[in-house]
Amino acid sequence: MKLENEAALDNLIICYQCYTLHEEVPIKDGSKACCSECGGILYRYDTKLVDHGLALSITGLIFFVLANSFSLIQMDILGTKQFITIPKTILSLFENGFYLVGFLVGFLIFIFPLMIFLINILLFTLLKFKRGEKTTKELLILLAHIKPWSMADIFFISLLVALVKLVAFGQIHIGIAFWTLMVFVMY
Ligand SMILES: [Zn+2]
Repeated sequence: MKLENEAALDNLIICYQCYTLHEEVPIKDGSKACCSECGGILYRYDTKLVDHGLALSITGLIFFVLANSFSLIQMDILGTKQFITIPKTILSLFENGFYLVGFLVGFLIFIFPLMIFLINILLFTLLKFKRGEKTTKELLILLAHIKPWSMADIFFISLLVALVKLVAFGQIHIGIAFWTLMVFVMY
């Protein structure tokens, strides 16, 4: 069934926050239309969206690599210095026989986040060159499946909790990777 004046409805947009009805008007490139009642964003027009997305994904990947290669924290316990990195933590779980935990942690804080960055980069590259529509669709579905399983943010919070407890045992120095991880989690 088609309504007779359906086309007229296409020009209307409802604010997601306060449900005020607005009429859609053309806006300048790089700008956004805001709700006149509550100021919420109604829509944006950005021809550089793909470029920005690609740049952000690559930046994210760089921070992810940094977060994994530098020491997360450095501990002085009874005079011995211990440097802790994310891959080291995962490896030591395996070495100590915690195979299941090591496997889970490896996927949740390393493999899945890494996959998300790579898929994002691939997606934006495909969009930029307007190629592989079918692949783009499959990648988006894959991304939707992986996203709930990427738990770097939860890892960061548990790390904070663990840090507070560890302070009681010895001196703790927060490494570069700790800050890069924070940037990566916020991204
Ligand atoms: Zn509104």
